[in-house]
Amino acid sequence: MQIEELTRLLLTKNLEDPSVLEQTNFSNPKRILPDANVIKIGGQSFIDRGRKAVFPLIEEIKENLPHHKMIIGTGAGTRARHAYSVGVDQGMPTGVLGLLGTFVSIQNAKMIHYLLADHGIPYIEPGGFSQLPLYLAERNAAIFFGMPPYTYWQRSPEVGVIPPYRTDTGCYLISEVYATKSMIYVKDENGLYTNDPKKDKNAKFIPEITAEELIERDLQDVVVERAVIEMMQNAKNGRKIQIINGMVKGNLTRALNGEHVGTIITA
Ligand code: ADP
Ligand code: MG
Repeated sequence: MQIEELTRLLLTKNLEDPSVLEQTNFSNPKRILPDANVIKIGGQSFIDRGRKAVFPLIEEIKENLPHHKMIIGTGAGTRARHAYSVGVDQGMPTGVLGLLGTFVSIQNAKMIHYLLADHGIPYIEPGGFSQLPLYLAERNAAIFFGMPPYTYWQRSPEVGVIPPYRTDTGCYLISEVYATKSMIYVKDENGLYTNDPKKDKNAKFIPEITAEELIERDLQDVVVERAVIEMMQNAKNGRKIQIINGMVKGNLTRALNGEHVGTIITA
């Protein structure tokens, strides 16, 4: 389509009109950082375990710095859950709870940042994402807090008030917008099982599955936020995520090298 025609359409028609939106589908969005990897370090599942979990992973990240570009986001975890419980008790709405969770994921990002400070790895907030390409070119990594910056603008969930878009989603959306090579979730289980392996000893490991199948199976509990699985279905670029057990030394390196460790979910 010619730009004149597209301009006329967008200026004169309703932007919710599906037939108009269809006309914006002709060009594939640019892959902005196709060589970078987004890595989410779990909050509850990882950072909350302290140095026993975190230090070996930091070493592995350092070992990979010469070979891979890493955009590293952090989860929130147990302290956020505590904040949510105190906030819910006092009648705080979803947007305020989202703000509380954001500060906890900032706490975790600060700690990961200082653990990598001797390698010159910067910490960035949403306003600093413009510098990300420079940091990746210069240092091969940057740290950010995983919460999407919706804060007060966080959408209310179907049930209850806990923010539905949390750190898994915030990291995922970065991999989607920059069309990164990978979206790797570092958690404390080998990947996705048929149920939470901490609660169900008979849970079976699922090495790969599609987002559609996963939604259809309607598992009682899943290893990543359900919002990620839903968003993957409309993704332009972020059509694959990988969940690995970061407690096993070498898994991150294998995932960065494109190996199938853990669970791969595709759309
Ligand atoms: P994060 O710390 O990254 O936010 P969460 O603690 O929210 O991670 O989610 C990871 C946890 O999800 C795992 O530690 C595991 O106990 C739990 N979990 C729930 N359901 C599943 C499932 N079906 N397969 C694997 N893990 C699951
Ligand atoms: Mg979580």
